[in-house]
Amino acid sequence: MCGIVGYIGPSDAADPIMEGLARLEYRGYDSAGICLNIDEKLVLFKKEGKLVNLGSILNEVKPKSSFGIGHTRWATHGQVNDTNAHPHMNEEFSIVHNGIIENASELKAGLDYNFLSETDTEVFLALVTQAYKREADVEKAIFSAFHAVEGNSAFVVMHVKTRKLYAIKHSAPLVCGVNETAGEFFVSSDPYALIGYTSKLYFPEDGILCVGNPGANLEFKFFDSEMNPSSKYKTQIETRSKDVADKGNFEHFMLKEIFEQPQLISKIEKRLQDEDFKLPFSQIATNAHGVFNIIGCGTALHAGMLMRNFFETYNQKRAITDFASEFRYKTPLLQKGDVGLFITQSGETADTLACQQHCKENGLKTYSIVNVEGSTIYRSCDKNILLEAGAEIGVASTKAFTQMVVMGYLLSQSFAGKFGETETKNELQNASKAISDILSREEEIKKIASEIYNYKGFIFTGRGNQFPIALEGALKLKEIAYVHAEGYASGELKHGPIALFDEKMVNIAIINSDLYKKTLSNAQEVKARKGVMVIIGENHLEEMKEISDFYFDVNYFGVEKLKPIVSNVVLQLLSYHIAKLKGTDIDKPRNLAKSVTVE
Ligand code: GLU
Repeated sequence: MCGIVGYIGPSDAADPIMEGLARLEYRGYDSAGICLNIDEKLVLFKKEGKLVNLGSILNEVKPKSSFGIGHTRWATHGQVNDTNAHPHMNEEFSIVHNGIIENASELKAGLDYNFLSETDTEVFLALVTQAYKREADVEKAIFSAFHAVEGNSAFVVMHVKTRKLYAIKHSAPLVCGVNETAGEFFVSSDPYALIGYTSKLYFPEDGILCVGNPGANLEFKFFDSEMNPSSKYKTQIETRSKDVADKGNFEHFMLKEIFEQPQLISKIEKRLQDEDFKLPFSQIATNAHGVFNIIGCGTALHAGMLMRNFFETYNQKRAITDFASEFRYKTPLLQKGDVGLFITQSGETADTLACQQHCKENGLKTYSIVNVEGSTIYRSCDKNILLEAGAEIGVASTKAFTQMVVMGYLLSQSFAGKFGETETKNELQNASKAISDILSREEEIKKIASEIYNYKGFIFTGRGNQFPIALEGALKLKEIAYVHAEGYASGELKHGPIALFDEKMVNIAIINSDLYKKTLSNAQEVKARKGVMVIIGENHLEEMKEISDFYFDVNYFGVEKLKPIVSNVVLQLLSYHIAKLKGTDIDKPRNLAKSVTVE
């Protein structure tokens, strides 16, 4: 959840470190810090709260250094305060850490060390320092500490005397990068922090020590625990420029990402015939015969629910969906031939990863639908379907959700042997058109938002494929507007939630031609209880207009199976504008993190 950025090279270190940390702010954090090597001494700057607090100290001091590490912390062990913020250091080493050391208290009890913080991280620092006193070898000392700790973590260590950056991880994100022209080395928890700075990225495997030493040559060196050179890492040439990390003319990343959706769908439509694009779909389709265990958290699970509907309705394939946090602690009935399908934007969601491991250990083939190439889930699964969403910065997912559903639809089309057919092509083209049309009507949605934003609560309803959208719409509104919102299957209202309705409660009902009469009756029942009725309808039907207080008619442009991603865009914009009127921090909502790397 937190961020790590490290730099060593000929230029100023604080700038790229602070810029990298700023890019990782979207992931969520509670304090920040940076450690710089100034005149062969480690100097620490740490501050609780937002990165600007740290930034203003640095602006005053203007430290000059070409070697440093920075961190944004999301506290797991010890309070949120300046002392517990990372880096943690002593005369020899400075350390940043992403993750949790599960056996920290046992280890701490056996250590003779002057701990300054309450963090688990400082235990790692103590272990490295102690081992270094024994071994007089930094690499060995890091390995010895690394083997003593349990849990999922990434560690970055700077050592002044050797002027080297060290990084190692277990089931946590870590990337190293070099800028070959400038002779610079970087490490981070997320390649997004390094865009525009590096020409080549390295993704090490678990337990491989990466050593960046500008004196030697322009390659990171990788070692296994026997100190043998290792090739257990993936490389990637980085060509993206800094603009990718920009909001452009949009007020928020979330709005920019909502508006990117039609082009991203068109991009997929154009790739339908590309062999490398088709491959994972056809490989999964030929190998998956048993029950699909579709697992995710939050928005990803809502996308998974739609996939389950697609597989069952259009392919007669059995599928179950579950929250990763539930699935991992029950005894799921897994049989030979069943498969696991794991959906995660970041590829680092801790609960989802645990489920993937569990399925793998039980002999299931595991597949992912993921946005980040090289992420932990990407590296752990048998096959991966990569989203074509680009970096998603808004914490509340929009374009990644749409892409997840599109990929699920394509997998379903692949099962049916219709992947590259005109039907598929048309569906994608129409979905792109229908979403563009909704975006061109943003003002109408903004108007509805301005009428309803102060109501007491919001109940989203839908049937069939619009039910997961009701859940997703409610989640989005909760996430960014901090108001009470729930999603229900329309037919469930009378089994409880209808008791909530009065003139201060809003029902946002998605009503399609599928099960039209039934869904309309549910809306009528709410109206009869004086509920405020917002209908997201279709086909300009008068009766829907009559019973609604606010009516938005969606033109689906002939879209059939992908209708839910179209109506969802209305809800995305509605949530965005309600949140704007409420004055919340839309891109970085309170208490949330983009990538939930802890349980
Ligand atoms: N467990 C460490 C702490 O509480 C690191 C948390 C993080 O990943 O930011 O300080």
